[in-house]
Amino acid sequence: MARTVVITGPSGVGKGTLIRSLRERMPELQLSVSATTRRPRTGETQGEDYHFMSPAEFEQHVAAGDFVEHADYAGARYGTLRSELETRSASGAPVLLEIEVQGARQVRRTMPEAVQVFIAPPSVEALRARLVGRGTDPPEQVEARLRSAEAELAAQQEFPHVVVNDRLEDAVEELVQIVRETTSTR
Ligand code: ADP
Ligand code: 5GP
Repeated sequence: MARTVVITGPSGVGKGTLIRSLRERMPELQLSVSATTRRPRTGETQGEDYHFMSPAEFEQHVAAGDFVEHADYAGARYGTLRSELETRSASGAPVLLEIEVQGARQVRRTMPEAVQVFIAPPSVEALRARLVGRGTDPPEQVEARLRSAEAELAAQQEFPHVVVNDRLEDAVEELVQIVRETTSTR
């Protein structure tokens, strides 16, 4: 059975929100903390939300081959550290990776056994409303994310599992079912 579950989809679709609810239902699930060169948002904590690092530090990890996958996204770099994935896997519980589509593609090649779930918005208008409504990103960041979303939405057919996050409770239920069935975690 799979030990890694990739949750992907455009920024603002509700990946973080869904993962919070999923982990309330399945507390044993581990969440991999990514590295990024993006600046912390208000309320974000080093080592909890991300391993925030300088571009130079990130590049050193790239050169050393420390990343399972990494990608450039909306003007910053994001990646999954192999050490992070190994630490989180040590308990034997499945590990969730919350990453964008380019990273999910890399994981598909290098870890074909990983489960891949694409979270889709009910519409592009709803996605925009969520990105704006979240209130965490300045307008130019919202636009950069919506530009990326176009290509990301076109990629959803590559994914074996697609969950439309329309009504949150329905989407959580669907996600719980997928994770239970593919990881045999009860
Ligand atoms: P992501 O992690 O994919 O960038 P978030 O989890 O931060 O997205 O969600 C973006 C915004 O959309 C948040 O303000 C969140 O409360 C809201 N949201 C998430 N799911 C839904 C939903 N099903 N219906 C309406 N709003 C939602
Ligand atoms: P945000 O800046 O909103 O936290 O994240 C922007 C995008 O980067 C989101 O779609 C998020 O899923 C993605 N992301 C977060 N961590 C990683 C990672 O380690 N690798 C990749 N490829 N994408 C990531």
